Amino acid sequence: MAQFRNFRMVSYVVYGRGSFNQLDEILAPQRRGDAPMIFLVDFVFDGKPLINRIPLRGKDKIIITDVTYEPKTSQVDKLAQQLKEEFGMVSGIIGIGGGSVMDLAKAVSLMMNNPGSSADYQGWDLVKNPGVYKAGIPTLSGTGAEVSRTTVLTGPTRKLGMNSDYTPFDQIVLDPELTANAPVNQRFYTGMDCYIHCIESLEGTYLNEFSKSYGEKALQLCRQVFLDKDVWDEECDDKLMMASYAGGMSIAYSQVGVAHAVSYGLAYLLGTKHGIGNCIVMNHLDEYYPAGVAEFKRMVEKHNIEIPQGICKGLNDEQFDIMMNVALSLKPLWENALGKDWDKIMTREKLRALYEKL
Ligand code: NAD
Ligand code: ZN
Repeated sequence: MAQFRNFRMVSYVVYGRGSFNQLDEILAPQRRGDAPMIFLVDFVFDGKPLINRIPLRGKDKIIITDVTYEPKTSQVDKLAQQLKEEFGMVSGIIGIGGGSVMDLAKAVSLMMNNPGSSADYQGWDLVKNPGVYKAGIPTLSGTGAEVSRTTVLTGPTRKLGMNSDYTPFDQIVLDPELTANAPVNQRFYTGMDCYIHCIESLEGTYLNEFSKSYGEKALQLCRQVFLDKDVWDEECDDKLMMASYAGGMSIAYSQVGVAHAVSYGLAYLLGTKHGIGNCIVMNHLDEYYPAGVAEFKRMVEKHNIEIPQGICKGLNDEQFDIMMNVALSLKPLWENALGKDWDKIMTREKLRALYEKL
């Protein structure tokens, strides 16, 4: 009998310009006695007006979070340990930032109620207990981390998410105003993460009407903001935030594909960040997604973005092997992209040649 995924979703969603102002009201019923709410905030907002709009009460705490590097299991463990020592119990963890801070918030919430290290839970359905209340407030649009059932962490031996039914947020606040000041390049790379989610989902063998409905809508929104518009405006921020949401919903019921698999290898060995890494790979995937890659290149050109080239130059055999092993271990991604016999298509030689082009 076929097994259909029975997936848990985010419980509450608020959308709209200025919806951030409702945060105090939203959090009030979630407060447990005097246990504090902990706000993990992207370091780009340090000293900015947004900090003063955070509705602090009692022992609530703001932790400014450095996201120079993508989240690590050691960082999650340290934060959770620190909070347990300082407060014993917390009412909730609120992540305000891009995909990195949102993933950190999800992971720290889980580690408040689960023993050991977050590295023990990298994989599928290994998390034993629900975390504490958690809310996600994106300030960049594209990753879909606001809706996904995973939190991607780099651990001692792998880069892999804590995928579980306990991972999705209890609440998300989608306020496009918060994305207004994102740097143009970053906004493009993270926006392309969404575009690539759409292409990989819509061109994949796992596609079904559920994923298609969301994927097509997200793709249409990406085209409107990255191709149809000549000047970036508020409407673009509004649309890209919904594209990210819909793109995330699309892959929730399908899977990503070649760009993500190859990009994970780059991230693991070279620390290449998710958005830019996906772009670097997508640039060379004509063979797998011809129409998507052609359109991607038009978007790159229109927005005057320089996609880095030659990042694998000078790497040795051992390094190529590390990247290939990481990429090839992501079997569902390849199966989605190339079908059941994917390993006959994506041989090590072929993958090596692809990495050498990047
Ligand atoms: P990010 O969160 O790493 O942030 C990138 C940069 O943008 C940072 O320097 C940050 O300070 C800055 N920034 C964020 N918001 C800003 C704003 N409003 N104005 C100015 N600067 C701002 O970038 P991202 O692309 O959103 O997230 C990437 C991360 O998301 C990776 O760690 C990746 O693994 C993860 N991810 C998770 C999922 C998931 O389903 N959980 C999916 C895709 C990616
Ligand atoms: Zn992605």
